[in-house]
Amino acid sequence: MRAVRIAGAVLVVSALAAAVLVDARAEAPLTITRHYTPADRVSGRYQYVPFEVPAGTATLRVSSQYDRVDGDNVVDLGVFEPGPLDLGTHAFRGYSGGAKTGFEIGARETSSGYRPGPLPPGQWHVMLGLYKVAERGVDVTLTIETEAGPPGPAARPLHVPVAIPPSTAPAGWLMGALHTHTLHSDGTVSPAEIMRITRDAGFDFVAITDHNNTTHTYELARDAALPARPLWIAGEEVTTPGGHASVWGLDHGEWVDFRVGPGDRRIADLVGAARRLGGLFSVNHPASTCVACGWEHAFVDGIEAMEISNGRHGEVTGALAMWDKLLRSGRRITGVGSSDWHSAPNPIDVANVRVYSPALTQDAILGAIRAGRVIVVNGAQEATPQVVVRAGNRTAGIGDSLAISESTVATIDVHAPGLVYGRLLIVGNGGTPVDVPLDDRGRARVERPVQFGYVRFEFRRQDQWPVAYTNPVYIVRQ
Ligand SMILES: [Zn+2]
Ligand SMILES: [Zn+2]
Repeated sequence: MRAVRIAGAVLVVSALAAAVLVDARAEAPLTITRHYTPADRVSGRYQYVPFEVPAGTATLRVSSQYDRVDGDNVVDLGVFEPGPLDLGTHAFRGYSGGAKTGFEIGARETSSGYRPGPLPPGQWHVMLGLYKVAERGVDVTLTIETEAGPPGPAARPLHVPVAIPPSTAPAGWLMGALHTHTLHSDGTVSPAEIMRITRDAGFDFVAITDHNNTTHTYELARDAALPARPLWIAGEEVTTPGGHASVWGLDHGEWVDFRVGPGDRRIADLVGAARRLGGLFSVNHPASTCVACGWEHAFVDGIEAMEISNGRHGEVTGALAMWDKLLRSGRRITGVGSSDWHSAPNPIDVANVRVYSPALTQDAILGAIRAGRVIVVNGAQEATPQVVVRAGNRTAGIGDSLAISESTVATIDVHAPGLVYGRLLIVGNGGTPVDVPLDDRGRARVERPVQFGYVRFEFRRQDQWPVAYTNPVYIVRQ
């Protein structure tokens, strides 16, 4: 390991800056090279490279270079301003993962993934995330430049709209995209473009969930006023080395840390931090087999939802098995689905969620997700299936509890418009799933004994293509 300073100051004044900031001036670029081995990746997945930012700095530029060896080396990039490096620190200034090779930060303008604002002087740290390190190791070279000048006014994040006019807030099944990426991580479009794409596809709400940052909130703040529909929910995909999770409902550029490896009990601290910030913590693609994508952490208390279907990581069977195991243990965890959308032409609506919400507001939608009033549907055009379970004079819908006495036969009525001669699969803790045909109107009525626990429903087309997965009706003792 060695640090090399390149001698000689370089004067860099852009044409625009020259007109107003006559003293804008770059310090000599600093070049640092560090060598990491596969053993370093095991002992310290996140490495921190210190450097000084002098007082009066208006712009910071960092770039990283290394031999990718056809994808055998992948090193994520992030940065911390002066302050502690502990979990949840406010010194975190941004993250751009392994897809980008550099960033720039200023008071008002930054690279996507980084928080704009004044640049406090002192010791900063570049964070290098050793996602993949080839057998022979990797040399990472950082080039760091600072430029002096007046900071100018700082950018501010867009506050989450808390309510929309009542006339546009229906009660009923609302369609949502819960997991989308923009240019602020490895997506291909701007946050405003995600809003337009989801509006055109008929969505009622959309959560933007970039990897390990919420800086899209600053970019939306610079755009024109957001439309009432789709409702925008600020989120983050907390991307840990032991699996990923969406957090929905973060405000004011807030951020949830991600630097917790598999088996580290501090996963509970991340979940707790998300909840303190008002967020709903939902595990993503838990059965994915891509490197560090499947959920290897415990499903600690406070995790309220999990993806059972993800358009990018299609391991639905494994995810359903994990979900059923949790449900059988008595845990009420809401199953959700998403397209995990990054780019066209991938469909943004496979999967989507239908949420039974009393209003089109963030609080109402997140409350309905917590309550399990969710059906996962493959395709925006598919109608939302209807399910009613009756026992005696009591009825329950998706997410509800149905109170029964010891031995009760329940009547299950379903209607899946469009699923003519489709199939209904009834899954629960009461043994083998039951496969039932739908009639020529997509209806079925089933009388069967139910046990304490849960019963959930899957809808398929005649050719077995899965169209919808409901959350359970919970069967409780009267
Ligand atoms: Zn993910
Ligand atoms: Zn994702």
